[in-house]
Amino acid sequence: METAFISLGSNLNHPIKQILEAYNQINELDNITVSKLSSLYKTKPVGPQNQNDFINAVATIKTKLTPIDLLYALQRIETKHKRKRSIKWGPRSLDLDILLFGKLTLNTRDLTIPHPELVKREFVLIPLLEVTNQDFTITKYGKISKYI
Ligand code: ATP
Ligand code: CA
Ligand code: CA
Repeated sequence: METAFISLGSNLNHPIKQILEAYNQINELDNITVSKLSSLYKTKPVGPQNQNDFINAVATIKTKLTPIDLLYALQRIETKHKRKRSIKWGPRSLDLDILLFGKLTLNTRDLTIPHPELVKREFVLIPLLEVTNQDFTITKYGKISKYI
């Protein structure tokens, strides 16, 4: 079993509902259990500003899946939520990213772990801090408290 952290984000079609449903769907997957969900945070969009505010959260999960199978499982949930891939960082019904996967670092075409934008994004750092603690170490980057 590995502990991993997933970020959940939505700014389309009832974002709070999207996030809570996604949380349930992740928890229902075989080989994954969600052990914590942060509060839901209302945040300003990154990138194009002419779109709705986002709802963001971070979940702690325990999983037996490999990182790539976890990504595929999350992408299937995004597809169920009618996620469209159009404008970079544009509006989306659901975005599920793998932030961290145990102490793994990975850099492949389809998957970079830790998530490359993690330490630059308040909307991820604050909920991540909520489900961890001030002494939590972000693999490759160091203590979370350096970034908040
Ligand atoms: P960002 O990655 O900057 O948050 P985004 O979430 O809008 O942007 P997407 O269009 O959702 O980007 O995903 C583009 C690709 O990113 C995915 O197809 C996936 O293969 C790749 N990817 C690489 N690393 C990760 C990761 N840690 N979690 C999720 N997707 C990742
Ligand atoms: Ca993202
Ligand atoms: Ca994504």
